[in-house]
Amino acid sequence: MTTGRFAPSPTGVLHLGNLRTALASWLSARAAGGRWLIRMEDVDGPRCRRDLGEAQLRDLAALGLVSDAPVVWQSERDADYRAALAALHGAGRLYPCACTRKDLQLLASAPHAEDGLRPYPGRCRGRAWEGFDQALRFQLPDGAVAWEDRLLGLQADDPVVLTGDPLLFRRDGCFAYHLAVVADDGAQGVTEVVRGADLRPVTATQIRLQEALGLPRPAYAHLGLVAAPDGSRLGKRAGALGVEALAGRGIALPEILGWLGWSLGCLERPEACAAEDLIGAFAWSRVPEGEVRVPAAWA
Ligand code: GLU
Repeated sequence: MTTGRFAPSPTGVLHLGNLRTALASWLSARAAGGRWLIRMEDVDGPRCRRDLGEAQLRDLAALGLVSDAPVVWQSERDADYRAALAALHGAGRLYPCACTRKDLQLLASAPHAEDGLRPYPGRCRGRAWEGFDQALRFQLPDGAVAWEDRLLGLQADDPVVLTGDPLLFRRDGCFAYHLAVVADDGAQGVTEVVRGADLRPVTATQIRLQEALGLPRPAYAHLGLVAAPDGSRLGKRAGALGVEALAGRGIALPEILGWLGWSLGCLERPEACAAEDLIGAFAWSRVPEGEVRVPAAWA
């Protein structure tokens, strides 16, 4: 069965860019008669907060986007991540990394365009195994990975060049983003991943990890980002583009949905509607590939 998901990190308010991704993943799953799940990606250290996650869930529900199964919180899934690490170790694909804490912090956060990509050069490859309480990296095989993006078409990336061997476990005891995403998509039976284009460059790395864990490869669609009216990055302005802030300025939920639906190719012009109204008109062939700009009156 088609299973889509939206996987926000609970580090702030969902802005129009996040909401557009959420709606696209929901519409894609619903248009295929499938189910849709929400997963809270709160493994990534102190910036993640339960209350922010709860607020995100409320905003999504206000838009009509409700998970078809209980929301999964990554912070509660240590046992599964440990099992995935054990499987990778058994396959000889993990090595301990002794690079400094500062290096690890830079490399461990969920990647976003602002951070840029810092491929790990494989400095600790070949280090002797010392147990599971070390920082652990996944040894990528050589070569490019080809994959089909529903929006961007055929992609071919070399993960060794883009990310290098990804960190899966940190010395501070936290599981890292790539491991959690891949293990969870597998465990939840996710068949399609819809997310922002800022994560396109890590897709090949995650596919390599899926292969090593014997997990099926989901379909991918990477959506263009939402920019300010002048085309610049939203940056700090994104905070003012959440459901509550917009409502405070008189922009009601149906209007937000109308703009989001229009930006995804479901409507000829932005007009107030409910999420349900958009399902029949959703098709990946109609979703514009590039970035979209927030209406000037909302920015
Ligand atoms: N949690 C990630 C983020 O908020 C998304 C991960 C994914 O969709 O694969 O950027």
